[in-house]
Amino acid sequence: MKWIMSLFVVLSLSCFSNEYKIEPVKDNVYRFNTGHYYSVFMITESAAFVTDPINSDAAQWLNAEIKRRFNVPIKYLAYSHNHIDHTQGGGFLADSTTQVIAHRYADEDLRWTDAPTRMADITFAQELKVNMGSNSVELVYHGPNNGRGSVSMRFMPANVLYIVDWIVLGRMPYQDLQGYDIHGMIRSTEEVLAMAPFDVLVGGHANMGTRDDVKYYLSYIKALYDGVRDGMLSGLSVEEIQQQLTLSEFKSLPMFAQWREANIAGVHRMLMDQSYFNFRPDIKNNKD
Ligand SMILES: [Zn+2]
Repeated sequence: MKWIMSLFVVLSLSCFSNEYKIEPVKDNVYRFNTGHYYSVFMITESAAFVTDPINSDAAQWLNAEIKRRFNVPIKYLAYSHNHIDHTQGGGFLADSTTQVIAHRYADEDLRWTDAPTRMADITFAQELKVNMGSNSVELVYHGPNNGRGSVSMRFMPANVLYIVDWIVLGRMPYQDLQGYDIHGMIRSTEEVLAMAPFDVLVGGHANMGTRDDVKYYLSYIKALYDGVRDGMLSGLSVEEIQQQLTLSEFKSLPMFAQWREANIAGVHRMLMDQSYFNFRPDIKNNKD
């Protein structure tokens, strides 16, 4: 019985891990999905521009599927940022002629950590425009926000924007925000709203959305930040802030009940790590 049970678990796990999907976003831009992860790709008359491989199995499946459905070579592969749960397996998605693109800080991190993926051939500091006939992809760095060298990618003329992790639509930001910079999330999201309008935003997780969805997300991270900062400035402990900062106007967001307290703990940790709130002489409890 035990043996049958474990066989069942193994079978269901392997079924789950092999569940891949491609769905149209707009015009010649598509979204690739496995589990909770998404990446995007664009198909032109003669080539494909792909983004995060996610993992080796997913990358192998996507590579074969692009060849089968569209019969074009993968000319470019661009990483959204350094984090390995999005960038692993680049060698299975890139062909020998593919040019791999990363922001210089993402590239540096992947090299220094000997990450199991294809290293970049092309790096950039601020902006990079890749032309493919009448199509193009515009990559922009917005400063620190999540991980290292995280960029936005705009696929033209479809005007689809791809952003991973520092904007999440239709769901709470992940747990206690490991790897995030809350100031940077707010600043970068404001920058995206100040750029030329996009038609659709595709994230690395959760939903696709519009500018209004991005504005709603920004209002959540600002309320979260303001609430934690004000609580800390008035000398409250993280537990007290978790009790008092209900953020109830956002309670319809999926995972709100599960992750509200963890989101608060994450911002509290960042204000200690990055803004040194434990050294603030103006906070009453710090003088005790
Ligand atoms: Zn992610």
